[in-house]
Amino acid sequence: MSRADGPLRILHATPECAPWVKTGGLGDVSAALPGALARLGHDVKLLLPAYPALRPLLEAGRPLAEWSAHGPWPGGRLVHAGRHRGVDLLLHDCPALFDRPGGPYEDAQGDNARRFAAFAHLAARLATAGSPWPAWQPDLLHVHDWPAALAPAYLQRLPGPRAASVLTIHNLAFQGNFPLHLAHELELPGEWLHPEGIEFWHQVSFLKAGVQFADALTTVSPNYAREILGTAHGCGFDGILRRRAHRLVGILNGVDRELWNPATDPHLPARYDARALPRKAVNKRVLQDRLGLEQSGAPMLFGLVGRLTHQKGIDLVVAVTPWLVEQGAQLAVLGQGEPALEAALQALAERHRGRVAVRLGFDEPLAHLIEAGCDAFLMPSRFEPCGLNQLYSLAYGTVPIVRATGGLADTVQEGHTGFVFDDPEPAALQSALERALAAYRQPVAWRALQQAGMGQDHGWEASAARYAALYGDVLARRG
Ligand code: ADP
Repeated sequence: MSRADGPLRILHATPECAPWVKTGGLGDVSAALPGALARLGHDVKLLLPAYPALRPLLEAGRPLAEWSAHGPWPGGRLVHAGRHRGVDLLLHDCPALFDRPGGPYEDAQGDNARRFAAFAHLAARLATAGSPWPAWQPDLLHVHDWPAALAPAYLQRLPGPRAASVLTIHNLAFQGNFPLHLAHELELPGEWLHPEGIEFWHQVSFLKAGVQFADALTTVSPNYAREILGTAHGCGFDGILRRRAHRLVGILNGVDRELWNPATDPHLPARYDARALPRKAVNKRVLQDRLGLEQSGAPMLFGLVGRLTHQKGIDLVVAVTPWLVEQGAQLAVLGQGEPALEAALQALAERHRGRVAVRLGFDEPLAHLIEAGCDAFLMPSRFEPCGLNQLYSLAYGTVPIVRATGGLADTVQEGHTGFVFDDPEPAALQSALERALAAYRQPVAWRALQQAGMGQDHGWEASAARYAALYGDVLARRG
């Protein structure tokens, strides 16, 4: 084992990693944080289920270990799928569980508990003396969200020396709760099945298991770390988290400057930086053109990219859009999500052709163009653990308009880098939009807002250093 203050061997286990598998911010974080830790000198590997999107890498990869079915766990292989940005990519190859169409969490066969328990179980085994690949033993296992959260619990059950564990909660709303009767099949012992253990309202909760057993817990912003200890989120985890509050810290996510930098972004027709802001207007024209938005009258253009859900406050946007159009402004939306919200947005686009454009689906290049081409960006989230799009907006000189929640409150300052409102009500959003429209009419003030945001450093370096310090503390505590 390495010393706590020297280079560490760190294994990340995550269900998403951009560019291969991404449904949201976790995909971006999994792509950026391990590389940032590697740049600090650590030996970092990342374990990912071998979904179909990874098949080319899997086929070209090098098998490291193979095992046959044992107990509830199907046979499989560990494959080294190459090195990306200084990090070894390891794939859990088990076609019966992961080689199927659809998103990573699509549960058409109703076996997500088995799929992700098997993934977490492998992560735990790799972090113990009985590893199927003993050539590399991590000092620390860092797992992300409920799909990997059983690993710290399995670590307790596996014999021999084992790595320390850290669980990051990217969104407490997703808990991985499954019928209690599955516990036996998943090798979760009966003595854990009570509310002080891993049971959550008569279900077995993967996330709760991680919270109970990980050596340290993190979440993705300091403000969200405080919020989830209270009752406001209403998901019933506050008591569980309060018991482990002494092990919980909030570390802000960063911007992956290799992917999200307006000066180098390959998706942009015109690249720019804070000194060449007029070039941003080229992106606006191209975006308007692509989305069928009118260009006459120099309208202020608002953008939104994200999951179209109640969490993201999309209903507030729907409510204020007619007013926004009356003000002469435009709106460009990219996302997918709840059918009723998708339909409401599409109806607005129909009614306000040339002023409101809605694209349903997941489109990475268009997301970049919206970030660069819009004047301002909307994130009226009801809750937002960290939020990445407001960070991208700051970096792109696209002034964010956010609700004061979670990481949004940590990263956007009213009147300095953006506009912030409190109540999750249309009137509060509208009043923030009024402030933004007024500021936009004053070019010098607007430029100052843009440059203040662009001047902030939200790179991963500082956050990766905080994770590394946390790992050191965890290992030092274990002695
Ligand atoms: P969350 O993880 O809650 O969905 P975040 O703001 O943390 O929200 O991260 C969302 C990430 O997913 C951002 O990189 C955003 O650009 C991207 N994203 C979300 N929806 C889409 C979409 N429809 N098309 C392209 N990118 C999207």
